[in-house]
Amino acid sequence: MAIIRLANSCNNCENILETGRCTVHGVKVSHSYTCDAFDMKASLQDDRNCLTCIRYETDNCANPQKAAPGMLCSHWAPKNVA
Ligand code: SF4
Ligand code: SF4
Repeated sequence: MAIIRLANSCNNCENILETGRCTVHGVKVSHSYTCDAFDMKASLQDDRNCLTCIRYETDNCANPQKAAPGMLCSHWAPKNVA
């Protein structure tokens, strides 16, 4: 069975500022970037599932057949992050 997990992108990293600047590298980053210093935001650690995903029950859901409370996939994006 495949393991489904949250993408290690800059948007989900503790080291990104609200301005989009990375505090480790000192440059502006985007959601499509990541690096070996990735450190998942503590606020995201315990609450990742379809119910907290901005894509839940929308056309943007990557797995509409399987999406459900408690489910998670690598396309998960938090509802409280733009
Ligand atoms: S430490 Fe790495 S993953 Fe985190 S914001 Fe900076 S570049 Fe992105
Ligand atoms: S299946 Fe993935 S994209 Fe769809 S709601 Fe769940 S976490 Fe989000």
